[in-house]
Amino acid sequence: MTYIANPSRYDKMTYRRCGKSGIRLPEISLGLWHNFGGVDTFENYRAILRTAFDAGITHFDLANNYGPPPGSAEENFGVILKKDFLPYRDELIISSKAGYHMWPGPYGEWGSRKYLISSCDQSLKRMGLEYVDIFYSHRPDPDTPMEETMGALDQIVRSGKALYAGLSNYNPEQTKEALTILKDLGTPCLIHQPKYSMLVRDPEEGLLDVLGDEGVGCIPFSPLAQGLLTGKYLNGIPEGSRADLEHGFLQKDEINDQLVDKLKSLNNLAEKRGQSLAQMAIAWLLKDERITTVLIGASRVSQLENSLGALDNKDFSNGELEEIEKILK
Ligand code: NDP
Repeated sequence: MTYIANPSRYDKMTYRRCGKSGIRLPEISLGLWHNFGGVDTFENYRAILRTAFDAGITHFDLANNYGPPPGSAEENFGVILKKDFLPYRDELIISSKAGYHMWPGPYGEWGSRKYLISSCDQSLKRMGLEYVDIFYSHRPDPDTPMEETMGALDQIVRSGKALYAGLSNYNPEQTKEALTILKDLGTPCLIHQPKYSMLVRDPEEGLLDVLGDEGVGCIPFSPLAQGLLTGKYLNGIPEGSRADLEHGFLQKDEINDQLVDKLKSLNNLAEKRGQSLAQMAIAWLLKDERITTVLIGASRVSQLENSLGALDNKDFSNGELEEIEKILK
């Protein structure tokens, strides 16, 4: 059936300004790393994407290598765009990235101009798009001059293949250097995408300060620590969960008794707040105003709906915040 977007899709969602830019992003964005590839079910991911847009999620995050197989998430998203979302293209922020291994030989990964520009062209072709809204350097390259990688992002933006440039997985020092180069080139960095959750706190050690000071947005990835910060692993590893899947990135041995004890305590606190653990984990990230949007994943519609419920209770008392720190210590 022809998709008609929910007419009240903008009524409930809050949009936060992305750093000092002109762009506002929904407090929750959806990523297509897992669950949208060639191994996944079309009707399932189509329903997730429709539910997201119907709820005001305007931002969809991809990368060249998402699948499996690599490239298939972009191809599948291209099909959904064509079938459902193209009439709404100007309401969408679509991002892609290059940095990780994508094709054989010396030009298929890292941060050369050669790789970034050809990968961006490939991504556009797979999605059937003329431009993406944000194009990221997916990871810093220790062997390529920062000027070359940033120069490639600048060229991609200037040639109209992307509207904005982003950085992912750059540490605070690398970020500072990259931001300066991009600013000098006249293509200021829009947004930074770090791994950040209650279980992974690195961005608090300098990165958030750099982004706040420089007016660059922040979009934390894996905010639920790939599903650990949900109720699902409290009593073992459920069948079909990311830790159970062969192609899932979450490793079974990450789930030990000590971690499960912490998750159980967090889950109890979430229950007291009238939330699921996933909802509390998302709300906890949004308490910092330097966070623009939280980049979640979902393997089914019910998870996305549950995660969206985070937005109904984003306030924490000092006592709750202290209790969270105590549990995580
Ligand atoms: P999350 O931490 O949100 O984990 C998502 C997974 O958690 C789901 O696939 C599902 O796993 C489980 N889940 C989600 N919601 C619920 C819920 N409400 N209740 C129970 N289980 C739930 O994020 P991801 O790790 O998927 O990362 C999100 C996005 O971040 C990616 O899609 C990608 O766009 C981006 N990313 C960027 C990276 C980078 O280097 N820049 C690296 C990694 C991700 P299950 O399959 O078990 O059901």
